[in-house]
Amino acid sequence: MKNIFLSILSLCSLSVIGQSDNITTQLYDTYENYKESSIGKRRIKRSDIQPLIDKLSANNKFKVHTVGKSIGGKDLSLISIGTGETNVFLWSQMHGDEPTATQAIFDILNFFDSEDFKEEKEAILANLTVHFLPMLNPDGAELYQRRNLLGIDINRDALRLQSPESQTLKRVRDSLDADFGFNLHDQSTYYNAERTEKPATISYLAPAYNYEKEINETRGNAMKIIVFMNDILQKYAPGQVGRYNDDFEPRAFGDNIQKWGTSTILIESGGYAEDVEKQEIRKLNYTSILSAIYTIAQKSYEAIGIEEYEKIPENDRKLFDLKIVNANYNLMGNTYTIDIGVNQIEVDYPDHNSFWYSSRVLDQGDLSTYYGYETLDATGYTIKQAKVYPKNLTNFDEVKALNFKDLLKKGFGYVRVSSIPLKNINSPFPVHILSTKFKIPELNLAPGINPTFFLEKDGISEYAVINGFLVDLKKSDIQVPNGMIFR
Ligand SMILES: [Zn+2]
Repeated sequence: MKNIFLSILSLCSLSVIGQSDNITTQLYDTYENYKESSIGKRRIKRSDIQPLIDKLSANNKFKVHTVGKSIGGKDLSLISIGTGETNVFLWSQMHGDEPTATQAIFDILNFFDSEDFKEEKEAILANLTVHFLPMLNPDGAELYQRRNLLGIDINRDALRLQSPESQTLKRVRDSLDADFGFNLHDQSTYYNAERTEKPATISYLAPAYNYEKEINETRGNAMKIIVFMNDILQKYAPGQVGRYNDDFEPRAFGDNIQKWGTSTILIESGGYAEDVEKQEIRKLNYTSILSAIYTIAQKSYEAIGIEEYEKIPENDRKLFDLKIVNANYNLMGNTYTIDIGVNQIEVDYPDHNSFWYSSRVLDQGDLSTYYGYETLDATGYTIKQAKVYPKNLTNFDEVKALNFKDLLKKGFGYVRVSSIPLKNINSPFPVHILSTKFKIPELNLAPGINPTFFLEKDGISEYAVINGFLVDLKKSDIQVPNGMIFR
């Protein structure tokens, strides 16, 4: 009996998803019409969204209220649209360095402001009132850091409520008594869908509301919406969806908001190949969240079977930016076979508006259970230390005049300069810069070092790794955003 019931549910879910397929495709295809172009990079600040909020305040389609202030005195704004009885509440960026959904929210608001998709929009706005609280942690965003100015993780403050940002989130949730909640985050780009090389571009969780991980109607509805959104993403990023571990965390907002009766959907934006600023992921947020809002308005999610939720692969953390496989490595007279996992790690400039790279070897050895955004099979290649260019240069103008391709082909990865400008905290060139007194230690591969070496075959350098970026020396372009300065 149970099996028949389940298979009927599964059939229903297929047809629900089929019906909404069309609108989703249209949303994806017309995205550029609604993209808020003024916020195109991850390091956005409260001052970047203020003009957008001002514009919405002056627009009678929207209701805008200041619902609180951050510790640093920055406004927390709630933007609402619609007249329906069902309240949908979306909040983003409670972690300051997780801006992808904040950008998508402003794209969604542009969509609501447009004259397009009339029928769908009427259905949404008649049945729902949709409330947005973008950038819950503006002080963290200012510094592009996870925590707020109190130095705490707002997502562990749902019970103690010490931070004004936490108090605001709780107060708004309670006053709306929201039916649905979207808890919008970014996760590490190094997450993958378990036992696959696919990054977890989006991960979902319908948080548990108790240690027993029971499923009541509130949580079940969140699972249904997740199944619905997963189906959309499979079309645009096949295999690139993960499911978070649902262990109950009594201090977290998602778990508590679920407990307080709001069907809560956690969305984590992860990584996507060659999308450093996560703009494709932003588009996937826009498309899937807006489609989810539509299915909530239509109540078509109700027929979806929650058993599909468990079938989404679990999140794992097994990705590197660069994985080098099977390289020969000489140490103390012996040759070993080694894999190397490298991450290109971002370091903010002091203004937190942009960043540079200080890459690291994360792991080495047998990394056959790991994956890379970029993988090089280095079978037959030997790792060689990068050499110092024999001529000492005076300043950066002289460095600039060098033929870097030539240098790299000859195995030079370092250039000595007598006058390094004080203002430079990294090398703007695809080689490292050394002061006249700095001595390069012998290459000793180990987790934590800056990945800089050459891969040689039959005495010829065919690949360079400079600051964790792979250069194919047979090709003409050198894609190394920056080197290091060793003073
Ligand atoms: Zn987060």
